[in-house]
Amino acid sequence: MKYLRRCLLIYACLFTAHVNAESRAVLSYLNAKNASEATIAKQLKSAGAISDVMAIINDNFRLETDLVFVFGADDGPLYDPTLSEIWIPYAFLEEVKERFVGANYAASGVSADDATMDSLLHTLFHELAHALIDQYQLPVIGKEEDAADALATVLLIRYFDQGQELAISAADLFDLESEESEDTLTAENFWGEHSLDSQRYFSTLCHVYGSAPQQYSDLLKESEFSADRAEGCIEEYESLRASWLELLAPHMRTH
Ligand SMILES: [Zn+2]
Repeated sequence: MKYLRRCLLIYACLFTAHVNAESRAVLSYLNAKNASEATIAKQLKSAGAISDVMAIINDNFRLETDLVFVFGADDGPLYDPTLSEIWIPYAFLEEVKERFVGANYAASGVSADDATMDSLLHTLFHELAHALIDQYQLPVIGKEEDAADALATVLLIRYFDQGQELAISAADLFDLESEESEDTLTAENFWGEHSLDSQRYFSTLCHVYGSAPQQYSDLLKESEFSADRAEGCIEEYESLRASWLELLAPHMRTH
């Protein structure tokens, strides 16, 4: 019995050392610069969904280095590969919420606060995609920004109940952003790393539909997809999902 207990203790020590040595995703909140930022910081700290994202990353991915999600950064959203940090300004969340409030988004049945959180989750997974591509040196064919959008949608759908609904809020944000920017499109927009906001809107909806065509058949009518394109969305989503999971499999934990 004594011997067994000693073994257990040694095992516990080894296990603790092993866990401590592992790289993890962690959260950091910088000081708010004014009252409205302080309100946002407080909301974020109590948001269970953000803790869920950290748990999803740490439960499923073997990170090469610690990845810090920094809320309250001056710039972003972005992934900084030299610091291994993801930056999300408080002002970004303020802007997103203003867009949803301005569009009276609550009339769609989702409050501006919930839509803002949904869009934030998509953004966190989008930036995580850049971090994983960098850490694992994953090959990317085509635009990395499109690949990151696609992985964000795949992860939302894989790990969140009703992940499609969260992705729809994110798509609607792209739609709202496109309304502001696309009257004044310049060459700079077409040269940009990202696809145009309206393309990001349609691509995200295409992948939501493709992930569950029967459940989301209404999207076809609302978004004016042709039957041919809709068929393509089913194949495209399955191809993206399978390709991403194959690339990530060597770096994922097996449960
Ligand atoms: Zn990006």
